[in-house]
Amino acid sequence: MITEVIAAGRRHGLRQTTRSRGRGEYDLVVRSRRTVTPQGERPLAVAVRGGVIAALRPYDEPLAAEESADLGDLPLLPGLVDSHVHVNEPGRTHWEGFATATRAAAAGGVTTIVDMPLNSLPPTVDVAALEVKRKAAEGRCHVDTGFWGGAIPGNLADLRPLHEAGAMGVKCFLSPSGVDEFPALDRDGLRAALAEVAAFDGLLIAHAEDPGLLSDPGGPAYGDFLRSRPQEAERRAVEQVIALAAETGARAHIVHVSAAACVEPLRAAQAAGVRVSAETCPHYLTLAAEQVTGPAYKCCPPIREAANRDALWQALADGVLMGIVSDHSPSTPDLKVPDFAAAWGGISSLQVGLPAVWTAARARGHGLADVARWMAEGPARLAGLPRKGAIREGDDADLVAFDPDAEFTVDVAALHHRNPVSPYHGARLAGVVRTTWLRGTPVDFDTPRGRLLTRGAR
Ligand SMILES: [Zn+2]
Repeated sequence: MITEVIAAGRRHGLRQTTRSRGRGEYDLVVRSRRTVTPQGERPLAVAVRGGVIAALRPYDEPLAAEESADLGDLPLLPGLVDSHVHVNEPGRTHWEGFATATRAAAAGGVTTIVDMPLNSLPPTVDVAALEVKRKAAEGRCHVDTGFWGGAIPGNLADLRPLHEAGAMGVKCFLSPSGVDEFPALDRDGLRAALAEVAAFDGLLIAHAEDPGLLSDPGGPAYGDFLRSRPQEAERRAVEQVIALAAETGARAHIVHVSAAACVEPLRAAQAAGVRVSAETCPHYLTLAAEQVTGPAYKCCPPIREAANRDALWQALADGVLMGIVSDHSPSTPDLKVPDFAAAWGGISSLQVGLPAVWTAARARGHGLADVARWMAEGPARLAGLPRKGAIREGDDADLVAFDPDAEFTVDVAALHHRNPVSPYHGARLAGVVRTTWLRGTPVDFDTPRGRLLTRGAR
């Protein structure tokens, strides 16, 4: 049965093992002896009605359903939630757009993305811009899509309206963002934004690098670039967010932690009851400075030395880091010039994050339940999406048939995202997505069935 699946699935992998039609109480039943739930892997039948997980029953219990799929020993994961995606539409749609990004997401087992407020034009820094963004996304998304707002100098009065309009939270930068229309907050601006967010119990997420500790690379090599953005710059900025979150009582989150030096301040703050969480990304966990071969690897903060990765994995295992999200941030290939000082900083990885993380996680002794906690449950909770991120009765039936043992070589030209640039090109990875169900319907890559999400949507 498994052989049949492997033969059928390649790029889209859309064939279930055994699929049958009938009549009955449920629209769909998906069975797997390895259904990954928050309690671990269980032999279960996931019964779906109206796009929602209506019941979790024993694997071999007879259930009347219109459609059923029996995966046998093939694992069934919750659809992943990627709360850190730069879609860039409208305005820089030639970098990435909703149709291409969400096809890449679905092919990679991601059924929910949350779009970042910058790199698109206008940046999502007020409700009017959020509406422009929603209009651009409407009817184009193959997975469910939510939106972050932005906090920049001068838009303090827009933060509450963004929250009330359903943005998941607001993002700010503490150092230059890479685009002029999304400036960074200084210390006073950060304090004011956190105080404002605390007033309506919202969430502020921060790109944490201290601009005073960043320097001009002074040369084109990766070593020059890496030295220009030291761990200390990240640690100092994280400490600043922690101090001001403690002072204001606001809920804060650090995006894309790359430096092991951030782990202890975060651990101490969380232990002291400060409301601060943090994420990391597949590239910080699976790639290393020593293997960088070109500008496809450039991102900020940078990919650091191999030794740094162990501390990030340990922080995930300990729960100090709550999740792994892509920070998918593409550009056109011409901006990835072979000079690390000048190249666009951003990594394209939406479609390969799951196999990249799984390949490394498995080698470190972690299981699929850990990966689901980091890549689905954690980001869903962060973004305030109570129906997402787990195989749980009452949740949306976002499901992924995942073959953890099948291997493939990443061919960037075969990935769905718009521009064929990715540091994973040529990588040999384990873990192939066979089928992705969005609210009980298999994603077919032609019909965009994704919904636009608002914070807390039930
Ligand atoms: Zn980002």
